[in-house]
Amino acid sequence: MNKSKKPLMLVLSSPSGAGKTTLSKKIQQSDSSFEISVSHTTRKPRPNEVDGLDYHFVSKEKFILLLKQRAFYEHAQIFGNFYGTSKTSIKKITNNNHNVLFDIDWQGSEQLSKFKELNLVKVFILPPSKEELEKRLIARNQDDKDAIKRRMLAYSKDISHKKDYDYVLINDNVENCFNELKKIVSKHLN
Ligand code: 5GP
Repeated sequence: MNKSKKPLMLVLSSPSGAGKTTLSKKIQQSDSSFEISVSHTTRKPRPNEVDGLDYHFVSKEKFILLLKQRAFYEHAQIFGNFYGTSKTSIKKITNNNHNVLFDIDWQGSEQLSKFKELNLVKVFILPPSKEELEKRLIARNQDDKDAIKRRMLAYSKDISHKKDYDYVLINDNVENCFNELKKIVSKHLN
């Protein structure tokens, strides 16, 4: 990264299951100047998730304590769990002179937008359709039936926030969507 430039803060949001985690990982693999911001959450880890890598998994008590200590840039309650971006996580990335990739929801994106000094680029990822999203959630087999139902109920509200983003991409094919995302990134890096 050019030292004279502020780090790029790339926010990816989407309804759950639209492919944003895959896209974030692909961005990081293709451009080593990006580091993914590791959030804190009170959600229980999924079988394949690693503490400190996918999330910092903490108790509700610990999260509330951190909140009181103003440790977060932004936080949200999603499907009954708390999620937040700690100031320490971001500092670690920017001190390395790296760009930051956020996989956060619209509430977090809205809160980050208030920091006008940030070099923020916000991208909303849409699935090709609501039906396709439900199929993907069932196929990835990460959530039980109730969780999928909750995610589908949140769909309309989630996507109503796409208007607050700089770009909206439809992830009908992950490679095509990734190429579009790379174009956006290079536009803002240069
Ligand atoms: P999941 O539980 O499926 O990993 O994530 C649920 C939702 O929480 C996703 O939309 C994800 O982007 C969002 N999320 C993850 N970390 C954060 C965070 O630190 N802040 C906010 N606002 N949302 C987050």
